[in-house]
Amino acid sequence: MSTPTPYVYTFAEGGRDMAGLLGGKGAGLAEMTRLGLPVPPGFTVTTEACRTYLETGQEPPGLGAAVASALADLERAMGRRLGRADDPLLVSVRSGARFSMPGMMETILDIGLNDDSVVGLAKASGQERFARDSYRRLLQMFGRTVMGVDGALFEQAIAAHTAARGATDDHALGAGEMAALVEEFKAVIRRETGEDFPQDPFEQLYRAIRAVFASWNSERARVYRRREHIPDDLGTAVNIQAMVFGNLGPDSGTGVAFTRDPATGESGVYGDYLPDAQGEDVVAGVRNAVPLTELRHLAPRVYDELGDRLRTLEGHYRDLCDVEFTVERGRLWILQTRVGKRTAEAAFRIAHELRASGTIDADEALARVDGDELTRLMFPRFATRTTDVPVAHGVPASPGAAVGVVVFDSEAAGRRAAAGQHTVLVRRETTPDDLPGMIAAQAVLTSRGGKTSHAAVVARGMGKVCVCGAEDLVVDTAARQFTTPAGVEVHEGDTVSVDGTAGNVYLGAVPLTASEVSGCLETGEATGPLTRAVLSALAHADSVRRLEVRANADTPEDAARARRLGAQGIGLCRTEHMFLGDRRALVEAMILARDDTAREEALAALLPLQREDFTGILAAMDGLPVTIRLLDPPLHEFLPDRVDLAVRLASAAHPDPHDRELLAAVERMHEENPMLGLRGVRLGLAVPGLVAMQVRAIAEAVVHRLREGGRPRAEIMIPLVGTVEELRLARTETEQVLAEVAAGTGTTLDCPVGTMIELPRAALTAGRIAQLADFFSFGTNDLTQTTWGLSRDDAEASFFPLYLEKGVFAASPFETLDQEGVGRLVEIAVEAGRAVHPRLETGVCGEHGGDPASIHFFHRAGLDYVSCSPFRLPAARLEAGRAALTGVTGSDSA
Ligand code: ADP
Ligand code: MG
Ligand code: MG
Repeated sequence: MSTPTPYVYTFAEGGRDMAGLLGGKGAGLAEMTRLGLPVPPGFTVTTEACRTYLETGQEPPGLGAAVASALADLERAMGRRLGRADDPLLVSVRSGARFSMPGMMETILDIGLNDDSVVGLAKASGQERFARDSYRRLLQMFGRTVMGVDGALFEQAIAAHTAARGATDDHALGAGEMAALVEEFKAVIRRETGEDFPQDPFEQLYRAIRAVFASWNSERARVYRRREHIPDDLGTAVNIQAMVFGNLGPDSGTGVAFTRDPATGESGVYGDYLPDAQGEDVVAGVRNAVPLTELRHLAPRVYDELGDRLRTLEGHYRDLCDVEFTVERGRLWILQTRVGKRTAEAAFRIAHELRASGTIDADEALARVDGDELTRLMFPRFATRTTDVPVAHGVPASPGAAVGVVVFDSEAAGRRAAAGQHTVLVRRETTPDDLPGMIAAQAVLTSRGGKTSHAAVVARGMGKVCVCGAEDLVVDTAARQFTTPAGVEVHEGDTVSVDGTAGNVYLGAVPLTASEVSGCLETGEATGPLTRAVLSALAHADSVRRLEVRANADTPEDAARARRLGAQGIGLCRTEHMFLGDRRALVEAMILARDDTAREEALAALLPLQREDFTGILAAMDGLPVTIRLLDPPLHEFLPDRVDLAVRLASAAHPDPHDRELLAAVERMHEENPMLGLRGVRLGLAVPGLVAMQVRAIAEAVVHRLREGGRPRAEIMIPLVGTVEELRLARTETEQVLAEVAAGTGTTLDCPVGTMIELPRAALTAGRIAQLADFFSFGTNDLTQTTWGLSRDDAEASFFPLYLEKGVFAASPFETLDQEGVGRLVEIAVEAGRAVHPRLETGVCGEHGGDPASIHFFHRAGLDYVSCSPFRLPAARLEAGRAALTGVTGSDSA
């Protein structure tokens, strides 16, 4: 029979690898104890004991005895007894879960004080005021946390006394006033609970432990866990630790310290110090702390020792650590440590510097940064922390900072951008029609929609700042103004500043600073410590990753930029973007064509334009693959809106016959569910000449590039195939045109023809489809829609927020791949495809190609590449590298 796990561990028995059982704080205290750091002794009650308590409402049998025995050992070690009248031992009872949840749960200090031991404490310390103050603190914390008294009642009493003194904080209160407060607090407790504050030190201890257990389920702890994705069933450990006192006079104090600057990563001593205070005063902000460097003057020996201890910790954890410490009459005590949270900038710099100093290796340095952090560093930022009050607050959907004049539609955005103005596009919500405006603008602000709304997804993809769902704003696009809750009217042309990191909007221009990181990513040249760190992490990622990274790009400019950002080709070139703008008229002509001749004419007019586009893109990506998707969206997307047209016709004195024709076409083509309608390969098969025209344009562009001495590598991709028969028809037509162009120009054309896998049926019959496909590209956006049977735009506008809130989705399946469902289809298709076609090339071109978690999945699924928007390339490279690391866990997250 194995011995059951004990419920109690002394600090000397635990260690850093026991955070699951002892919580992060308990594991850290134990580790420091082992390292010989000055930690007040104590013991930890395990998370398992807490879980039992939360499940059954009772302490597990044996816990009481284990605590009593550990306490007896502690008393012996300290030479004092808990709450004894002459020279009492006092303890703190501290929460501490597996993952750090700062300030979310409860801690009670000074357990063991009562009407008798407070006298003993005064005598032993020689400080009456200190003893009374400590008792008052215990009553306050115990009253609130254990006995459920409203904390404001205590604070009001303190405020009354300090006000009577004409002071601003309780420091001004003397021993007599503290003693008076003690009596008042006891009375408050009696009045509010009908019970006296327990004088028995052991009762205090046991009730405090139970209250800490229960604080795991406090409302704020639950909310915090939901936001941080921390499981609800872990429970908290409880640390019982001998008290040390920072409030014994000017040679005492308390503070927090970091081994490096958590904002920049710069090495040095950082932190705050509060003389003559107890730990909780720092967080409570009762008085202003001084910079830690002051301690050098106040207590040079303590300062030096603290520096040594911090170096020991950083060397041991091999990472940035932060500590809570207390100085008791010139003696340093460390009360907590953990691997500290940090900004994105600090994460890169610290990883790089630890690697440069040989503390960690390149793999581990890479594991300690991530793609989201890199993305955050690529946005411009506000130069100073503004003290202005925001006029609006919404969902921080795409980080960074932007300043511009307000516009309400694409036309104004385009016009002002052409005049060199920066703009902020404000809409109730955005649709694909707003794309030109979003491209022209610096930021997008909407009053509807969440993190996965069209505005948010598109803005993130483009690297634009976005605040969405600012619900208090009334956006009136017709009147070209929006109104804030405070009644401020903001008109087109007014300047606003949008902070996409915080979700805030300010009136006027808050100064901006460009991101040095995005500059260096394109030039490849470091300009300082941060960019050096970023480039070195990326270089290592590139050297270890197996996944290739390509870009989604539709123009030569995008292609060139993507290449500078490290793209190894284009995974998705969308021809429909070439059908917009001036060319819309030609597309209209094609759609309206009454007979074959008219249609052929229209197609013939489009051909040279398409050829030119492809030539430019192939030139920008010379030598690298360019996957061109044949026209995918339903044709009516290229026609004007039905309602607009009808209104125009109805209100015109002399209706334009062309408009009439257009309206008839729009009505003819109207579909209830265009997403499931005449689009993709279906369109290519239904509209004669459409596939041929596009393939010819591609083929001729390739020939043109070959004649220029280039190395064009075009790949032709047939979208939305559901059965191999569709692919057979489209491929036959494609090959015929390729052969014609090859023969006509006397060239050999080597253009692989492949398909998108974006329907469940395609994934399930991938073995057959692979017989006719040179490559698979997973269109995970459509595959997600069709697997879930939902339309993304409709769902995001209606029930998505509810689903996220209710936990049906942990994250939007459009942001992060649904591995269980959609991912399963990807795996099935890859396996079946490779079984018939071992060298079948596979990649991903959906939104997920740039999402960190999804990239790790695609790596495991054995794909050859991911493709994403140019802006997301650096993060994708980094994550592809991280996915390839084995046996490295990254930062200790105790
Ligand atoms: P949190 O997790 O919210 O930081 P802690 O358990 O760390 O809560 O405690 C709150 C404050 O009380 C901290 O500043 C801590 O340093 C201080 N503190 C905890 N235990 C002791 C002790 N035994 N002696 C002195 N100060 C303590
Ligand atoms: Mg703490
Ligand atoms: Mg698609």
